[in-house]
Amino acid sequence: MTTIGTPLSPRATKVMLLGSGELGREVLIALQRLGVETIAVDRYENAPGHQVAHHARTIAMSDPDQLRALIEAERPDLVVPEIEAIATPVLEALEAEGVTTVIPTARATRLTMDREGIRRLAAETLGVPTSPYRFCDSLAELQAAIDDEIGYPCVVKPVMSSSGKGQSKINGPDEVAAAWEYAMAGGRVSHTRIIVEGFVDFDYEITLLTVRARGADGEIATQFCEPIGHRQVGGDYVESWQPHPMPATALERAQEIAGAVTGNLGGQGIFGVELFVKGDQVWFSEVSPRPHDTGMVTMVTQWQNEFELHARAILGLPVDTTLRAPGASAVIYGGVDATGVVFDGVDAALQVPHTDIRLFGKPESFVKRRMGVALAFDDDVQTARRNAAEAASRVKPRAV
Ligand code: AMP
Repeated sequence: MTTIGTPLSPRATKVMLLGSGELGREVLIALQRLGVETIAVDRYENAPGHQVAHHARTIAMSDPDQLRALIEAERPDLVVPEIEAIATPVLEALEAEGVTTVIPTARATRLTMDREGIRRLAAETLGVPTSPYRFCDSLAELQAAIDDEIGYPCVVKPVMSSSGKGQSKINGPDEVAAAWEYAMAGGRVSHTRIIVEGFVDFDYEITLLTVRARGADGEIATQFCEPIGHRQVGGDYVESWQPHPMPATALERAQEIAGAVTGNLGGQGIFGVELFVKGDQVWFSEVSPRPHDTGMVTMVTQWQNEFELHARAILGLPVDTTLRAPGASAVIYGGVDATGVVFDGVDAALQVPHTDIRLFGKPESFVKRRMGVALAFDDDVQTARRNAAEAASRVKPRAV
């Protein structure tokens, strides 16, 4: 049975979000609607989630001492990681000590915090199809991996990075050194390890949002949202849409892969499983044990969006992944490097039929920082994509 207390009372149900960007902010809002007391944590002040939670805390989440001290002081019922760069051994220790519950599990957050843990689990332990890959710690190792096994074209990514940072495609021998240098500059920590992957010539890529939630019989059941199609530029998502049409065999295969990976990671909550598809062939790419950026489209396409699904699942509540209408999302980038930007044209954007927007409230804008998202639903995905892109283009961030 799930019992929820009154926020700010001794019996409050307390949930701590580690990472309070745009995705964390929506999870916090969903939790608040269910009467949960929320603690938003981020590395900088006035992060999007800080602005909507009961409590805002600013620490370096990659620092084990700071992280342990905060969790021990706040004693949340649940700790919900929303980013990868977290001192995950502390989460494993606190979970083992019974201090808190980590979503979906502390082990899942450790395995997915870099590309190596999850790739080895999927490909080597679970035998799920992936691109051919090797991990390398030097330019010489990278060259050897390409020559011996991977070939051209291939993709190089720092093991610790997201949103395409430090990632590049190598088309031939004269591009290897530059790709290595680029990966070294783009990694999240001073880390020299990269993954080199064979380039998969896919027809399209999808995010399969997969939810592990408690059913009426008390057992954890796995449910899938409709596939989300997306377009990436430089490894960063620029638009997404749902549903993405798929042949029945490919969809079945995608669900099998997503079920196997999330089943092994365990716990409760939503997972964003990224897959490449060509005909009936499906390759696993990666998984986030949390809401996924491409899944922001569900704010306009599903009865329960991915953030509500996550909030419900982690609290032990039932979920419904039914699609409400086809739709699309388009990213609104900062376009300028400045603090305290203003957004012109929000009215014009919302004049596009069936649209909505989210402005994330980030204190600082960068040219390529995601500052908001435009959403559109319609009778078909094509119209929704066009309208979401049009609405996004009408919003103009401006330095003041
Ligand atoms: P990732 O950061 O691993 O999600 O990669 C970002 C994007 O780069 C993916 O969504 C794909 O569009 C592209 N990509 C990554 N790995 C490969 C690959 N092995 N083959 C082809 N495209 C890839």
